[in-house]
Amino acid sequence: MEITGPEITGTEQREAWLRRVMPPVEQLATDLWSIPVPIPDNPLRYVSSYAFGTGEGLVLIDAGWGSEEAWQSLLAGLASIGAGIADVRGVLVTHLHFDHIGLAGRIRQACGAWIALHPADQAVLGLPDYRDAEVAVAREVEFLRGLGASPAEAADAVGAAAEWEQFTAIALPDRLLEDEELADVPGWKLRALHTPGHTPGHLCFVDERSRRLFSGDHVLPRITPNISAQRGDPASPLRSYLDSLARTRDLDVDEVLPAHEWRFRGLAGRVDAITAHHERRLAELLAAVRRHPGAAPWELAGQLTWSRPWAEYGGQMRIFAVTETAAHLDLLEHRGLVTASETRPPGYTATA
Ligand SMILES: [Zn+2]
Repeated sequence: MEITGPEITGTEQREAWLRRVMPPVEQLATDLWSIPVPIPDNPLRYVSSYAFGTGEGLVLIDAGWGSEEAWQSLLAGLASIGAGIADVRGVLVTHLHFDHIGLAGRIRQACGAWIALHPADQAVLGLPDYRDAEVAVAREVEFLRGLGASPAEAADAVGAAAEWEQFTAIALPDRLLEDEELADVPGWKLRALHTPGHTPGHLCFVDERSRRLFSGDHVLPRITPNISAQRGDPASPLRSYLDSLARTRDLDVDEVLPAHEWRFRGLAGRVDAITAHHERRLAELLAAVRRHPGAAPWELAGQLTWSRPWAEYGGQMRIFAVTETAAHLDLLEHRGLVTASETRPPGYTATA
């Protein structure tokens, strides 16, 4: 959902966005570059991979989508800064999504670079769902049925196993990064911050010397990241996310460098706007529960306002909408504003 934005510092990125072209590779400091890597057929358009010069090669934050086009863009981006894939010594991955980790395995294969991820995202990637497309489809259908989808609706939204195949070969990390740990980037003081919500193991990185925050998908300038209930994850993602936002709000940084869209200033204001967005969403959902007592998440999602008519939400978009609704219901329940029945799917009722 769009919210009026903070002060834009990535003005070339923003101009490119408006012209619907890829932004340029940019040098942001003596030893720091941003390299846009395209995401095929996706409204996010690209991931910004950040390259840190270390005196003995480069370390990247995020790799890009796992496709040939993305790979060629990354190679061209590295060439434009006078480097090659053999210079990459490591990849810090903010989270397990394919637009961030997809190319990491190919980079490691090409040059032996390490891949670092938070343990909570490594645990998700290690699940059978992420290793076998048939298992992924079966579990996702069951998960959606548990949220109130009929068998046909669930099967229709999840699609065929073939479409899930590419996600079963995601590289597993060979290094783990815990909260507050310094990343192995010689010459830099880059501290990992565990910011669960968008995924259980999402990491931001604070460069303590240059006062920059590499925010991954945790804080973006224009859109809010998808915060969804996930199969196999009993944690409450929206509660985690709001806690992570509160934790990042007052970081002593001058600029935010996100994985999508453009660089900006004004972290606290942006965090407040995103927090307010979720509070409005919670209020809207509570009103929907009052109008439809006993309804399941699948049905309640269709009662909320979305950026397009609900009937146009098919496939993955519908899954995101429903699982995001489920995450908000979980927080309403935690706050004592709704109760869930002990049925499958659960029906939600507002408390008096
Ligand atoms: Zn992303």
